[in-house]
Amino acid sequence: MKTLLPTSTAGSLPKPSWLAEPEKLWSPWKLQGEELANGKQDALRIALQEQQHAGIDIVSDGEQTRQHFVTTFIEHLSGVDFANRKTVRIRNRYDASVPTVTGPVARLKPVFVEDAKFLRQQTTQPIKWALPGPMTMIDTLYDDHYQSREKLAWEFAKILNQEAKELEAAGVDIIQFDEPAFNVFFDEVNDWGIACLERAIEGLKCETAVHICYGYGIKANTDWKKTLGTEWRQYEEVFPKLQKSNIDIISLECHNSRVPIELLELVRGKKVMVGAIDVATDTIESAEEVAQTLRQALQFVDADKLYPCTNCGMAPLSREVARGKLNALRAGAEIVRQELLKEHPCL
Ligand SMILES: [Zn+2]
Repeated sequence: MKTLLPTSTAGSLPKPSWLAEPEKLWSPWKLQGEELANGKQDALRIALQEQQHAGIDIVSDGEQTRQHFVTTFIEHLSGVDFANRKTVRIRNRYDASVPTVTGPVARLKPVFVEDAKFLRQQTTQPIKWALPGPMTMIDTLYDDHYQSREKLAWEFAKILNQEAKELEAAGVDIIQFDEPAFNVFFDEVNDWGIACLERAIEGLKCETAVHICYGYGIKANTDWKKTLGTEWRQYEEVFPKLQKSNIDIISLECHNSRVPIELLELVRGKKVMVGAIDVATDTIESAEEVAQTLRQALQFVDADKLYPCTNCGMAPLSREVARGKLNALRAGAEIVRQELLKEHPCL
């Protein structure tokens, strides 16, 4: 990546209203069969064009072909019974009706590989593809087979590694694992969560990222954030071990959050996707606000390792707001890029 401060998003973008009901998670599809397959591809093309028009450097599929960042992946696996549902507490935060693991989990066929090939055909820009992380996957299921969170996470790590290898072969430049659960289960993260993540990236030559945030801008998450006090120090618990891991890039929530920015010092040496766009509000950041967040991060992240990004996915936002936020991200990054080039012409 030669561009200084290359911009990207955490992953998801809003879907067009003809494909799924907007501003809603787990929104059901409005099309069926071949129409749905074509509609998903059209939506992916639009999501890509929105990013290109905004001047985003590392593009994604906007997660247009999936209903949910975890569930859609799991739906493609055997060993999970979607008819047999149990209510569990997701990330210690809210109750949800989830499918049950009833036997050995396995990936019988590729999940997103055809979608990734399709995105690859549409652009020569670097592309990033998001997958759920093992720990976040187990937290979205009821396990009636392994009876061990760790065992199930290892099985998912192996499955994710199979998928990741095929995504890499399809031409994906950065494979990102979404692990919001890393902000909740600190002991498990340190005992086996990061080890499972390293199993998921084993043998990959492309770059790898882990996205750890405080969640989409939905009520359960914003209510939870209110209970976290004036300083959010969750990252402090997992950063030291992540810094020593084989993961290349760490994607974080920074803008409008109460995360003390100096915690970034704990992952010095890693590339950092700095969340400079708040996804929990419809207010569109000014370019200067984005620039300010990036300048703060630059105290703790080397300029050649800083990737301006969004705090989390933008799926629950309106398309207009998401478009405005993409433009703000690019404009804010450009301000800081020019400042850096002025100070250090060799960058
Ligand atoms: Zn997120």
